Amino acid sequence: MESSQGERSLPVAAPGRHLRSATKALPEQARAHNRALMLQTLYHGGAMSRADLARETGLTRVTISDLVAESIADGIIHDIGVRHASGPGKPAIVIDIDREGHQIIGIDLSGTSKFEGAVLDLGGRVICRRSVSLPVQPGSQQTYRAASDLARELIAAATRPILGIGVGSPGVVRGDGTILSAPNLSWQDFPLEHLIAGELGLPAVVSNDADVALLAEYTFGRARSDVMLVRIGRGVGAGIITGGRPLIGARFAAGEIGHVVVGTDGGPVCACGRIGCLEAWVNVPRLSAEISAAPSRVAALLADAGTRLGIAIAPIVAALDLSEIVISGPGELFAGEFIDAATTALRARTLEGVFEDVTFRLSEQDDIVIRGAAVTVLSAQLGVT
Ligand SMILES: [Zn+2]
Repeated sequence: MESSQGERSLPVAAPGRHLRSATKALPEQARAHNRALMLQTLYHGGAMSRADLARETGLTRVTISDLVAESIADGIIHDIGVRHASGPGKPAIVIDIDREGHQIIGIDLSGTSKFEGAVLDLGGRVICRRSVSLPVQPGSQQTYRAASDLARELIAAATRPILGIGVGSPGVVRGDGTILSAPNLSWQDFPLEHLIAGELGLPAVVSNDADVALLAEYTFGRARSDVMLVRIGRGVGAGIITGGRPLIGARFAAGEIGHVVVGTDGGPVCACGRIGCLEAWVNVPRLSAEISAAPSRVAALLADAGTRLGIAIAPIVAALDLSEIVISGPGELFAGEFIDAATTALRARTLEGVFEDVTFRLSEQDDIVIRGAAVTVLSAQLGVT
């Protein structure tokens, strides 16, 4: 896909809110914009008549009929029957997104020992899943081969036409799906999206794993319009939506908070070579190992890690005036003392009376990267988020 940063920024809208695109629709884009608006309305509003759809979108009946006919021909929308009116007037035909008519491949490359993926329907429901082990000696070609083998297995398992392949990858990912830097996967300037689309002959979208996790929260969860999702696994990364739009940054690295050094008291050595990076303090393998070594200190260890996170993100919350922080990671580590300590640190380090109601919560989404990767395909192909 040829695209610049601005064109590729994902339009985002939560249920009941209008699609917000980073660029204003040009006249020639009006049809695509109207189609996306119609599909977005149906996707979140559920089955309705053409007249309802015209009213909800503000588009004319003629435009709606035309767009609906096109989407029925594409197999994206289907008739689901006749609704008998309670009052006078003829019964209306009700239409909806055909959520089972197409499928999406969603792939998560952020795992520590394996790549995981699933075939999903358009509603984000997992139909079946597959995984492949990470190569023992990860070179760029070996990790690519593992990812494309997984995609092939999923394509073979799909039972409906495939809308596209969405991939959530760790690292810094450019707007065209090139991995600028993902040391754990041995990728640098690696054109993953281009290679996957070319090899498999399907539309592909490659994005950062934390960014797609946030899209899953936004589309299927209850994330608000000014939100940061912090994903904690082997490393720490974040995705940010501000004013209902994904924040991308000048070098596609917005949310790369893992290597911010927290505190002046030293700390563990990070994979990057520095001392005291946020992700050196707060990562799942380290916390798990520390807890198993000293089970009696579990509360103190988690509280310390939570405090480090709160310190690191307080200035971000203040600068962007965020309303909530969603943590994506193992609940047994992060649900209690960790979130409490992070909240306390945030309160102590931001303006009293202004940021008091900023909340931390744990995401309730399962398969968050896989489902978020599916949202990137819905967004790219249908304009639905
Ligand atoms: Zn580091």
